[in-house]
Amino acid sequence: MQKGNIGVTTENIFPVIKKFLYSDHEIFLRELVSNAVDATQKLKTLAERGDFKGEQGDLTVRVSLDADKGTLTISDRGVGMTADEIDRYINQIAFSGVTDFLDKYKDNANAIIGHFGLGFYSAFMVSKKVEIITRSYQEGAQAVKWSCDGSPAYEIEEVQKEDRGTDIVLYIDDDCKEFLEKTRIQQLLNKYCKFLPIPIAFGKKTE
Ligand code: ADP
Ligand code: MG
Repeated sequence: MQKGNIGVTTENIFPVIKKFLYSDHEIFLRELVSNAVDATQKLKTLAERGDFKGEQGDLTVRVSLDADKGTLTISDRGVGMTADEIDRYINQIAFSGVTDFLDKYKDNANAIIGHFGLGFYSAFMVSKKVEIITRSYQEGAQAVKWSCDGSPAYEIEEVQKEDRGTDIVLYIDDDCKEFLEKTRIQQLLNKYCKFLPIPIAFGKKTE
């Protein structure tokens, strides 16, 4: 097990994200689904170039709810990430002058998220804890689990994962229970996740 701190320059970015972006917090789902789609598109590109020779299999992005655990999960079978890639693309979000910027754009959540590529971190607008369980498409890659409870401290450890790709598991905040409701998630998928180049399914893996 490795422990560390996410490389943000402010003490703690998460309360800032929650405070400034609260009105638009439903966009987290669009951000996470589009990351899943991006990762899947990358895999297809690698396959076209001959850099990925394995089975692509079913590339559907799956969104599922677990009412007992209070989780919402977004799963893809895209490129996945190695521990090293998590470190580069997730942990080291170094941005400067964040407070000034947020002041300027506080009425426009989309501008903030777009500008900083804060897409993934929008998960913390609705979650008390977020896990990334991922295995890279690269042969023999070790699956890893990253978890973070909303403070800059994260944990990363090796895990078993059969499938290539990524599961983003959101432990939904007590004050955001609406995102554990089927109808609400379906509504958001209809609003933000139509006409994507990869099929999106909502429900159990076995359906
Ligand atoms: P952006 O999508 O603008 O790059 P994000 O904050 O949404 O910014 O994501 C940061 C990075 O984390 C992505 O560029 C990608 O490298 C990695 N990432 C996020 N989600 C996934 C995923 N589902 N599969 C593989 N990599 C991912
Ligand atoms: Mg993104």
